[in-house]
Amino acid sequence: MSENKTRDAGFDEWLDAAEEGEAYYLECANGHGSLPPRRVCPDCGATDLETVDLPDSGTIETFTVTHVPTPAFEEDAPYATAVADFGPVRITGQVVGADLETVENGLEVEIEVTVSETTGERVLGFSPV
Ligand SMILES: [Zn+2]
Repeated sequence: MSENKTRDAGFDEWLDAAEEGEAYYLECANGHGSLPPRRVCPDCGATDLETVDLPDSGTIETFTVTHVPTPAFEEDAPYATAVADFGPVRITGQVVGADLETVENGLEVEIEVTVSETTGERVLGFSPV
């Protein structure tokens, strides 16, 4: 399926899992979390990473609203891009299924893989729980 797209292969697999409701993260022996396609812990350099189920929901830690996007996302604007805290990992995604006025720090969200209206490519999204 995505064999000839090696660039983001690890992340594509992760999106597949997330779409099935089986999102996961990678944890090293020291308990640091990271996301594919990493193969090395960004905090301590450990290479022995275990796959652990991601918590079902996280909370928005910070977000920005884009009204004038780059051409690649022009059909999607305006939209909010948020960093959500899922405990061991922070994940960046596009907020979907919510009025922009209701997006705020501390909002509880779950991962929802969505498709960019502009490029037709899959995008990591967050929807309010
Ligand atoms: Zn580590």
